[in-house]
Amino acid sequence: MEKLNCDVVIVGCGVSGCFAALHLCEKYKVIMLSKASFEESDSYLAQGGICCLKNEDDYESFYRDTMKAGHHENRAESVEIMIKSSPEIIDELVSYGVDFERNADGSFKYTREGAHEFARILFHKDITGKEITRNLLSAVQKQSNITLMEYTTMLDIIEKDNTCLGIACKDQAGNVFAIEASYTLLASGGIGGLYPHSTNFPCLTGDAVAIALKHGIEVENVDYVQIHPTTLYTKEAGRSFLISESVRGEGALLRGADGNRFASEVLPRDLMTAKIHEQMEKDDTPYVWLDMTVLGEDVIRNHFPNIYQRCLEEGYDAIHEWIPVVPAQHYFMGGVHVNRNSKTTMDRLYAAGETSCNGVHGRNRLASNSLLESLVFAKRAALEINALPLHSDASFDEVWQEKKMELKKDQDRLVEEYKDLVWKEIRKER
Ligand SMILES: Cc1cc2nc3c(=O)[nH]c(=O)nc-3n(C[C@H](O)[C@H](O)[C@H](O)COP(=O)(O)OP(=O)(O)OC[C@H]3O[C@@H](n4cnc5c(N)ncnc54)[C@H](O)[C@@H]3O)c2cc1C
Repeated sequence: MEKLNCDVVIVGCGVSGCFAALHLCEKYKVIMLSKASFEESDSYLAQGGICCLKNEDDYESFYRDTMKAGHHENRAESVEIMIKSSPEIIDELVSYGVDFERNADGSFKYTREGAHEFARILFHKDITGKEITRNLLSAVQKQSNITLMEYTTMLDIIEKDNTCLGIACKDQAGNVFAIEASYTLLASGGIGGLYPHSTNFPCLTGDAVAIALKHGIEVENVDYVQIHPTTLYTKEAGRSFLISESVRGEGALLRGADGNRFASEVLPRDLMTAKIHEQMEKDDTPYVWLDMTVLGEDVIRNHFPNIYQRCLEEGYDAIHEWIPVVPAQHYFMGGVHVNRNSKTTMDRLYAAGETSCNGVHGRNRLASNSLLESLVFAKRAALEINALPLHSDASFDEVWQEKKMELKKDQDRLVEEYKDLVWKEIRKER
């Protein structure tokens, strides 16, 4: 398998990859890649929920909360697009079978997280991401125009004269091959895999950002990395387990070593993290306490069953005792710069989801805005691609042969080279 052909190749099978695929014309031949298993995308991990404009009256407040959390560095146009698109996106999710929590009268039930003035977050227990992603993935799997490839890694893009002609990839057996495509969408998630303590899957190492840097594609705010204030403290190595902000949104309290509260529990994430670090230093402890007991057994068992179970496995019964929590890397606000339709600065190359930066989040993401942002802008990429002509490049084989030679020489160093590129950009003084 030296080369595959398709109309659109999508790198990533999280919510952004799947939603884009579902909005591409069915006449297009689409190939989607996942670096590890389909379930190892951060989309599966989202706990708290997805923001939605409840009604017109909430627009100003939703907009203000998003801008305030982002320190007003957000791109106003993107925020507006995201909020206004949200009701239609939620309707689509429901049509794909996503089951959001509802009140007895059938209306949506909303929860609240830090820095939200009002409750405007839809949720499915504390596994909203899994509920959304498994439904989207299952819809994708039913479409005969889409081929899904698991354990297949994009190594690089194949480009000529600032035009993307496709990608180079490697399968699980180590075979390197090309995918020629009219359009390429990078939907390859965040950068948590670069950090020793992160809530993200370790396979998410910012490959698309590194590739953008390597090819002179514009990137934006690569140093804007969000640390989540509350992950379950453990001495074990591995992925940090998130304790969703909606736990605090519903009323759980943070306590220092003396048992007293030390801050408002619904501060924006960056300020909350700073307060926790300050308290840890003061107490000389590697964690602070999160008191979920005040929520009562019913709320803990029904709204947060997954968190409750995981805490039990770690030896903490959250119904009866406080749990130790510590901040960890969580989300990437920066990424490959894109315009309002998720187009990068390279021709025929798009980016969506956490890998991209459309400016929605500014310096700091408001809780539960990322699933929504991913879906809204992935759909926009697909709709723009649908309106563009397909291409076939006579020069592809020549460019691919050159790339293959380069990869033969450099492949062993590639992982480290990509990590270094992203780290240098994160640490770059501005
Ligand atoms: C623990 C946790 C809880 C969260 N809770 C919430 C929440 O409540 N609400 C909310 O809005 N957001 C939440 N988020 C953030 C949100 O889940 C993510 O921002 C969002 O799901 C990103 O989706 P994505 O499609 O861009 O990337 P992902 O879902 O991470 O998917 C990335 C895909 O790219 C693939 N990939 C990566 N590199 C390559 C490569 N080189 N080659 C081939 N494939 C590649 C991966 O295999 C994967 O399939 C949470 C995140 C975490 C980690």
